[in-house]
Amino acid sequence: MNAIQRPIPAGKVYLVGAGPGEADLLTVRAARVIGQADAVVYDHLVGDGVMALIPSDAEKIYVGKEAGNHTLPQESINALLVRLAETGKRVVRLKGGDPFIFGRGGEEILELIGSGIPFEVIPGVTAASGAAAFSGIPLTHREVARTCVFATGHFHDGSCDLDWTALARPNQTVVIYMGIGALPVISAQLVAHGLPDNTPAAAVRHATLPTQRTIVGTLADLPGKVSAAGLKPPALLIIGEVVNLREQLNWFEGFPR
Ligand code: SAH
Repeated sequence: MNAIQRPIPAGKVYLVGAGPGEADLLTVRAARVIGQADAVVYDHLVGDGVMALIPSDAEKIYVGKEAGNHTLPQESINALLVRLAETGKRVVRLKGGDPFIFGRGGEEILELIGSGIPFEVIPGVTAASGAAAFSGIPLTHREVARTCVFATGHFHDGSCDLDWTALARPNQTVVIYMGIGALPVISAQLVAHGLPDNTPAAAVRHATLPTQRTIVGTLADLPGKVSAAGLKPPALLIIGEVVNLREQLNWFEGFPR
């Protein structure tokens, strides 16, 4: 038996990163575990191709999590995972991208630990990696960006409490998850804290999927371009000089395949 066929034990929760959308961007381990699941608890960002790998007799439970529309509160999700594992099921908790990057994976695991439930975490291709690869924007590049920062643009109470001074540093790439709604504020704050307003910036929607769409501009004009295009979440913002590399590296949307 090879590593891919190895059976997984029951009564355990697998916190699995489903990647940015396409099923063949899953890790081999994620595909193995999904294929043996008895119950799958999933979010709205999990791609159709990944969902198709779930065995037809497995229980599928949607727990939502679109911006501003939480189908199940986090505490109920945590309790559900515990309940399913306690009944001896192989439970897959499937999350878009990577479970430990803006995925609240840590909170769910703390609950499992509290209840003595065994678990494993399986990483996934996070949206930043998927968007970078498929938009032709390397997140680091020699002499252009030596640092890369991931931040969330989703502000619970409407306040923008990011460390703008740290985000506005030169030679740095800033990747913002959940930032489309707050894009005008994000751009204005970065400029107010020292980034030139002609700093290149891009918004990438549906990264890695056939429906991928990328809008490129500057901090000054990206908010207007994004709203004129009606670009909706899920989309990622990439800000920094690396965005210029897309002109040459855009293989996915730009070159014949
Ligand atoms: N854990 C996930 C992120 C969840 S937060 C990960 O590691 O990717 C949800 C946000 O991720 C979305 O609002 C969007 O900003 C980003 N995102 C997820 N999938 C995406 C995709 N295919 N294309 C662009 N952005 C995506």
